[in-house]
Amino acid sequence: MKRRGILANFRGSSERRYRLARMRDVVRVHAGVLERLLEEARRNRSEECCGLLAGKEKVISEILPARNQLGSATAYEIAPEELFGLFKQIRAAGLEHLGIYHSHPLGDNAPSPTDIERAFYPDVAYLIVAPGAEPVRAVRAFRIRRGLVEELQIQPV
Ligand SMILES: [Zn+2]
Repeated sequence: MKRRGILANFRGSSERRYRLARMRDVVRVHAGVLERLLEEARRNRSEECCGLLAGKEKVISEILPARNQLGSATAYEIAPEELFGLFKQIRAAGLEHLGIYHSHPLGDNAPSPTDIERAFYPDVAYLIVAPGAEPVRAVRAFRIRRGLVEELQIQPV
């Protein structure tokens, strides 16, 4: 009887843990955008590609490529005047700024310490493309807030 009780408790606790496990937040992205991001990342593997993502009603539908002014394969930066121009373009098209993307031509697509430190937009999704990664994980999305990284589930629509 006692053993049974222990087993029952164990079951109860693992079930509770399962229910408490937080569902990942979702970022909805047009499937064509994911393909284009991969193309961008594959086009030039000698430097990180980068740009903005925009759309409506929280669905990312547009990709706005930018120049990586660092010309580096391990870091990226969009020049402030170019960034300003892209924001203007997004507004003019009646869209919202929903994300920022860049590639990791050489590595995995987890945010680097610099990516985390320089994530200035807490409400957008950071998409990282790794052309060398397993195809199912070639594009990953994150929310980065005050140094905290949370992976988002990409839902192609
Ligand atoms: Zn990065």
